[in-house]
Formats: sequence, structure tokens, C-alpha cells
Amino acid sequence: MEVLHHPSPVLRSRAREIDPSVDDDLRELIRAMATTMYDENGIGLAAPQVGVDKRVIVFDVDDNLAALCNPVITELGEEVVVEEEGCLSVPGIMVPVERARRVVCSGQTIEGREIMIEAEDLLARVLQHEIDHLDGIIILDRAPAEKRKELIKAYNEANRL
Ligand SMILES: [Zn+2]
Repeated sequence: MEVLHHPSPVLRSRAREIDPSVDDDLRELIRAMATTMYDENGIGLAAPQVGVDKRVIVFDVDDNLAALCNPVITELGEEVVVEEEGCLSVPGIMVPVERARRVVCSGQTIEGREIMIEAEDLLARVLQHEIDHLDGIIILDRAPAEKRKELIKAYNEANRL
């Protein structure tokens, strides 16, 4: 699968909820997304990044591949941390992004079973980043206002836009 890059309009639209129990293509989609993520040395990938209009994410922050359907942040910790983030859809730059250090996230497994994940630090960051993709939000949108212009310029130069 090919990863779409900014400024693809697909990256800016809200992806649709799915019903894992009736989605026959889900297993294959997740397998293909995982392969793409590993090929590109990413630690997370959202379906819209490969042009698929579904609320599905895959991630691997600790050598465990996981997939989540219709993920929702149900609890956002008060403590926030700024860290540089990269994105396979925004190649060539790193963007300082403020995120909650701890989140609780709910969603469904590919079998349609409800699950809840309590995440901290890198996993919490990856979940927030990938769920942003499902809502059409990319890291440039999360850049500090005073750095946004400079980052967009750097992105355009790195990608010859
Ligand atoms: Zn991303």
C-alpha cells in the first residue's frame, strides 16, 4: 500500500465508523497496513493514510502489533508533554506536539470485541496521533502557532512542493 502525503485531501477528511463483525475486508486491510507500517519504519498507521475511509489504526510501540477499530479517547490525562513527532504522511520534518501523557482509549478488536487501553507516554502519544488522522488532523495542525509557518516551509522544501 502507498502512504499518502500531505497535502492529500484524503488526510483532511473524517473517516467513517466501521462494524468489525460484518467487515469482511478488515483482516486483509490490517495485514496490509501493518506491512506498510513496518516497511516505512513507522510505529503507527491510520487507514486514511493509505486512502481507506475507515476508522482503523494499527500500531506497534513495544514489538507487539495491535489494531483497533473505531478508537475513541475516553479519558485525557491532565498532564501534558511536548515531544517531537514524525509522521509517515508528513515526511522530512519533526513537529513538536503537545499531548496528554496518559489516555484511556476504547474501541473494538477486529473480532468486534470491546476493549479499553490505558496508555502512557509513547503509546498514549501514538494513540492520540493516529486517532487525529481519523479526524483529518495532522501534526502540522498541532504545531505551535509561532512555529507553524517555518515548519510548513521546511516541509515544502523537503518535499519539493
Ligand atoms: Zn501520522
